[in-house]
Amino acid sequence: MAFPDFAKYVVVGAGIHGLSTAYHLALELKASGKGSGADILVVDKSGIAAGATGIACGVIRNNYFQPAMRELMVHSVGVWESDPEAYSYHGVGYMQISPESMREDVASIARQQKDIGYESVFIEGREDSDQYMKNIFHDWQAQGITSVLHEKRGGFANNTKAMYGLATKAENEGVRIISGVTVNGFQRDSSGAVVVVETDRGNVACDYVVIGAGPWAKQFWEMLELPKTIDVQSSSGELHRDVPMWVYWSLQEGTLGLDPNVQKTNAGASPPVVHVDSDAPLYSCVDGSLITDKPWGIYYKPDFHFGGIQGGAAPFKIETHPDEVQVDPYGVESPDFIVDDHFVHMWVSALAHCQKRFEGSIGHYKNEPSGGIGCFTPDSFPVFDVFCENCYVIADSNHGYKMLGVGQLVAQEICGNTSDLLEPFRFSRYAQGNLHPVSNSPFPWS
Ligand SMILES: Cc1cc2nc3c(=O)[nH]c(=O)nc-3n(C[C@H](O)[C@H](O)[C@H](O)COP(=O)(O)OP(=O)(O)OC[C@H]3O[C@@H](n4cnc5c(N)ncnc54)[C@H](O)[C@@H]3O)c2cc1C
Repeated sequence: MAFPDFAKYVVVGAGIHGLSTAYHLALELKASGKGSGADILVVDKSGIAAGATGIACGVIRNNYFQPAMRELMVHSVGVWESDPEAYSYHGVGYMQISPESMREDVASIARQQKDIGYESVFIEGREDSDQYMKNIFHDWQAQGITSVLHEKRGGFANNTKAMYGLATKAENEGVRIISGVTVNGFQRDSSGAVVVVETDRGNVACDYVVIGAGPWAKQFWEMLELPKTIDVQSSSGELHRDVPMWVYWSLQEGTLGLDPNVQKTNAGASPPVVHVDSDAPLYSCVDGSLITDKPWGIYYKPDFHFGGIQGGAAPFKIETHPDEVQVDPYGVESPDFIVDDHFVHMWVSALAHCQKRFEGSIGHYKNEPSGGIGCFTPDSFPVFDVFCENCYVIADSNHGYKMLGVGQLVAQEICGNTSDLLEPFRFSRYAQGNLHPVSNSPFPWS
């Protein structure tokens, strides 16, 4: 089939956001009689799930301190649950296990989950938290934990499998997905609207563009001639001038090559995803030396797709100037941004700190490249907004794998139905000071 020179809707990026938008847009167009999936072209310079989506842990949770994030996640969890088989979704639940410094934050999350009808159990107090955990994992031994939030929905999905399921759904609706097409720029008309997407395979004229470029968000931002720095008003009214729009963070993940069945619950069931934040001193599982006496956090789950116990730790900010950061080659192909021995030592020691079954297991760590970078906005939360009249930018600061539902809401907006759930994520929030509240979590995105 010849490379098209026109598509009504061009979607750039075959990660979760691009594919979800394409699939749901196809459904919206069909339902409204305005068109069909045949009007939609998805292009990706590599292929399906070649970006952050394909290396993500795949954790799906509601646990966010920010009310707008929680409400958005309720919607997305519903989309995951709508077709668990195609989405390779495991609704095993999710646990946020926290120290005293986070107890009040998490208590407010639990209260608000009740208000919005999201099922969870909240346990408070050192002894009750310990007992609750031991009822699930007999070998639980983490120190200094004073609350447990156990979300009964959510869990994880197998990262690439889910995306092939989503791509198939889109293709079944007539969407065309073409791999190996690099977008190099845009042509705009006198009103500023994008009229042509320039690619290395030729120009594609279009009526509307959607960009779901994950860690490449900054490159597209520049192609659209949007500002490199912006003014940000804090919630207290303080104005910060010339804040860089984009900053990169390195995400740390890996796999302990044990039989995933080792992490069954006491009842022999598949366990919830475990996320532990702690301020207890963390000691090496190798030689007993102190690794850190600062707050730390890890998450983990048994995952047959990764072939072991897979998870990660808090990311770190990349101090290199954003203009100098090499996003390509991406992910496990990157010479600069894969995890190092320090991560392995810390993460496996933290696993052993939490559960006795992981003591002495560091030799099973899978020594293959893992981790990758993310492109973050000034407040580390996504921007979902229309720029240049007809260009929907989905710029997500690494919350995105779980956000399967965002594409559905974006598709509805493209078809004229504004979403209250997306409203708190507009670009104007930086100038207006409508920022999301900041929690005491060691993670920038919680
Ligand atoms: C190590 C790691 C672990 C993570 N774990 C989780 C998790 O457990 N849960 C969670 O919710 N989120 C997680 N995230 C975040 C999540 O993966 C991202 O937020 C999400 O995948 C972003 O999806 P996307 O579709 O916007 O981008 P991507 O999946 O990165 O897709 C962008 C696509 O754009 C293509 N592209 C780039 N430039 C061009 C161009 N010029 N022309 C054409 N195509 C182009 C790329 O090839 C790529 O396929 C994790 C991220 C990382 C890095």
